[in-house]
Amino acid sequence: MLTLHGTGVSNGLAIGKAYVLHRERPEVPEYVLPRELLDDEVRRFEDAVTRARDQLERIREHIPPGAPPEIASIVDTHHLILRDKLIGEAPAELIRRQQVNAEWALKTQGDALAAVFDQMEDPYLRNRKVDVAQVVDRVLRILLMAEDEHEQISGALEGQIVIANDLSPADTVLLKHHRVAAFVTNLGGPISHTAILARNLGIPALVAVHNATRYVRDGEDLIVDGKLGVVIASPEKHVVVEYRQRQKEITLLKRELARLTESRAVTRDGVEIALLANIELPDDIKTVNKVAASGVGLYRTEFLFMNRADLPDEEEQFRSYLKVVKSIGDRPVIIRSLDLGADKQTNGGVLPHNHVTANPALGLRAVRLCLHDTSLFKPQLRAILRASAYGDVRLMIPMLSSLDELTRVLDLITEVKSELAHEGQRFNPEIAVGGMIEVPAAAISADLFAPHLDFFSIGTNDLIQYTLAIDRVDDAVSYLYDPLHPSVLRLIQMTLQAGSAAGIPVAMCGEMAGDTRYTRLLLGMGLREFSMHPSGLLQVKKIVLESDQADLQVQAEALLALHDPRALHDGVDRMNNGH
Ligand code: PEP
Ligand code: MG
Repeated sequence: MLTLHGTGVSNGLAIGKAYVLHRERPEVPEYVLPRELLDDEVRRFEDAVTRARDQLERIREHIPPGAPPEIASIVDTHHLILRDKLIGEAPAELIRRQQVNAEWALKTQGDALAAVFDQMEDPYLRNRKVDVAQVVDRVLRILLMAEDEHEQISGALEGQIVIANDLSPADTVLLKHHRVAAFVTNLGGPISHTAILARNLGIPALVAVHNATRYVRDGEDLIVDGKLGVVIASPEKHVVVEYRQRQKEITLLKRELARLTESRAVTRDGVEIALLANIELPDDIKTVNKVAASGVGLYRTEFLFMNRADLPDEEEQFRSYLKVVKSIGDRPVIIRSLDLGADKQTNGGVLPHNHVTANPALGLRAVRLCLHDTSLFKPQLRAILRASAYGDVRLMIPMLSSLDELTRVLDLITEVKSELAHEGQRFNPEIAVGGMIEVPAAAISADLFAPHLDFFSIGTNDLIQYTLAIDRVDDAVSYLYDPLHPSVLRLIQMTLQAGSAAGIPVAMCGEMAGDTRYTRLLLGMGLREFSMHPSGLLQVKKIVLESDQADLQVQAEALLALHDPRALHDGVDRMNNGH
């Protein structure tokens, strides 16, 4: 029995046989060709590019109906890369100029492009580097007549656990299509396209399990625990029995949780709690309705801007918002204005061309970018306001750090409203405007922001990143991520107090709100609105239904007086275990 550890990027438990994809980059030969063979060699390269294009088309056709639209966009991105001169044509020039074989020319060009990407610090561009490498690999394999990847993934994979060096998003779609039980890769980060897709597709997945393809044998029995980030190879019998039992328990728990769908989230002592959902794309609304969330607490609108070559105009944005508003009835939809920048970039790029930054998370992001470029911001404000005529739409501003910024946003909203009124467009003139509290400066001065806003929503993902000075996307410092750090808890408490003093509601929409380890503590601290990924909502509801808010409040007060992080963690554990 061998246990390997990695980063769990998609929850779930799988038991099955390993299917090891040996697809490390093939050895690329280099040889010089006589001049008279160069035309043939260029043709060979062009044929390989055409075949790669055909493969991508086949992959696109195999995208299962109902799969998230990002999947097709990613396949399209690979198509675009293949069509780009830098990949589709430059190697042909190299073949002629250096009289080398096609594989070597393509590899040389791919390495040169990778070096350019390496000089860019932006994590999103690093993801693009992965896309380029995957396209280069695809063409290389065809040139080297390596096994056709599509054929390789088309065997009887149902119920198997795929182990690979790395997987492209296109591979991930195929894996889902073949109903694999889980996947594990040697490489990859939690924000890679593949990880995001795995979560969307609901396949348990682990990345960064170093050397998994070396240690795991084809056909070996495996257990994958996506939550704990663990793979167990050749598990002993009693471990399999234990995990099968856990699988049964998970199924039962899901069934039991489903029964709570229609119940109101009220504590035992009668405190009503709003459980809202976070969404990225309009289609996510189906899962929101499935768990009967109290509304959408965070609509991350920037996802509409990603994986595409152009930018959505006002009309397209309006239609997306309308789709969500119409499918949610009279429940609230909190639309967050664009949070582009840092790790969230568009293909075409919306940052000013001369904007080079060493710390993108501290740079021109979210409301800063919107205020810098009102040609980006105004169409969105218009679209949100127009959607507000059709339901309970509320607007939320991310990453506020100073009152001056807020004043500029509010002025812009007033300007847009008067334009719309002038044009005779319908909108809600009283639309609620809230602010995300995710920069420590905003939490510390929440009392100053409160009189100008209709609600707060605490974004713990960024609040923790900025308070503890840990880059969200840097694996090397993720061990420092701690929602229970006393400074984080103090900032949450300050925000709750500022909200209650000003009489405005305070919600939380960061990952902490959907993490059941913190539900009781947050209830005790006075949080009444939790917004989270819909898949975690019923579990949080179960805790709410079992809780006594007054009792939790007493416990939370005692806990917050503690300074020793260990004691705090132990205290929260005791709270969760009912002591
Ligand atoms: C947050 O920062 O907690 C948040 C909800 O926003 P995002 O994760 O989109 O930055
Ligand atoms: Mg944030």
